[in-house]
Amino acid sequence: MKKLDADVLIVGGGLVGAALALALKDTPLSVLLLEGREPVFDWPAESWDSRIYAISGSSRKLLEQTGAWAQLDKARQQAVQAMRIFGDNGPELRFDAPEAGLDRLATILESRELQQALWQALRSCPNATLLAPAEPVRLAVDADAATLTLADGRSLSARLLVGADGAQSWVRQQLAIEPKIHDYRQFGVVANFGIEKPHHGTAFQWFSPDGVLAWLPLPAGRMSMVWSCSAALKDELLALDAGQLATRVAAAGNGRLGVLQTITPAAAFPLRLNHVPQLVAPHVALVGDAAHTVHPLAGQGVNLGFGDVVELAGILSAESSARCGDLDVLRRYERARREPVYRMQGVCHGLQLLFNNHHPLLKVVRNLGLGLTNQSEWLKRQLIRQAL
Ligand SMILES: Cc1cc2nc3c(=O)[nH]c(=O)nc-3n(C[C@H](O)[C@H](O)[C@H](O)COP(=O)(O)OP(=O)(O)OC[C@H]3O[C@@H](n4cnc5c(N)ncnc54)[C@H](O)[C@@H]3O)c2cc1C
Repeated sequence: MKKLDADVLIVGGGLVGAALALALKDTPLSVLLLEGREPVFDWPAESWDSRIYAISGSSRKLLEQTGAWAQLDKARQQAVQAMRIFGDNGPELRFDAPEAGLDRLATILESRELQQALWQALRSCPNATLLAPAEPVRLAVDADAATLTLADGRSLSARLLVGADGAQSWVRQQLAIEPKIHDYRQFGVVANFGIEKPHHGTAFQWFSPDGVLAWLPLPAGRMSMVWSCSAALKDELLALDAGQLATRVAAAGNGRLGVLQTITPAAAFPLRLNHVPQLVAPHVALVGDAAHTVHPLAGQGVNLGFGDVVELAGILSAESSARCGDLDVLRRYERARREPVYRMQGVCHGLQLLFNNHHPLLKVVRNLGLGLTNQSEWLKRQLIRQAL
């Protein structure tokens, strides 16, 4: 048998890959984490990342267990206490954390803060070694191991290679696994704003034929916007100056938070659903956006990826190190993730189709649905439980 460089080799040190390396910290497995870009954690203290995440309770638990949560700056976290969702015809759906017996529905964190916290925690992780920047150019799999050849000529072998390299996954391409892609022909436009009226920890979301507008609370009189919209509206928003953007966004949210002030300029991301039919192969597994992408309207992309981490780390830690790349072990991970991933992709996709439509009958149906859901405490508790 060839000499191995690690038991587990993770390609991609983004949020999900880094979390997986940390989640394996109490196992006997040796872990190599390979990242293409050397991360730079250097930004002005007063600036705010426009990429933010609503972290669910189960993701928070994972981050606490891995030690990353303790690295986060508490002054930059915001608890979501309530959520108010509006259709395009008046009815409102409202979720309140206390009514569901919770102290919060989610925690809002900036992407770069979370990335930094994960990498800080990794530095004191005894069984993980970071390799960045490093570029893999070839992947070969034989009966014993997966072997990566890097651009600098080095080669690295491991029993298990994990592709955590994002939606365009290089690892997935090497395995010739073709995702089924649904291009929403929409963009997620993100920006941060100072607000005039307090948000009281409330997240707002408006569903309309123009797209889905979400306002997520940030600490100290700020909020973050994700507007999933057409290319035309994206172009219009990106062309506005800071003052015009603030006025346009305030009007789209019916002035709920008073006058807005742009603090982080708008940026846009294309929105696609990636359905990946196969998550594992002998000695290889896919996690995070490499394994699935969803529409951001439910803010669940990274939470789904952290769900992959919990499942895969749980399965690997119950097995002997020698079996961590065995296909029957990896298939257990694939089976366990199929249902939660399909369900989340289905819900987000269905909601997007339901609201991205001008048919008058659908308009009645969707608004009736919101109103009826709001009247059922039981149904609301079920929805919160699913989201958590
Ligand atoms: C507009 C928008 C808003 C969103 N909002 C939310 C939200 O509110 N809540 C939420 O949960 N999710 C949200 N998401 C989704 C979330 O951003 C992703 O699900 C999450 O970032 C996926 O993490 P990842 O680690 O799997 O992939 P990535 O973040 O893409 O990380 C992949 C890493 O792999 C590295 N890499 C890539 N290729 C290679 C290679 N060949 N070799 C080495 N390294 C490589 C990259 O440099 C990167 O560091 C949103 C997405 C969009 C587009």
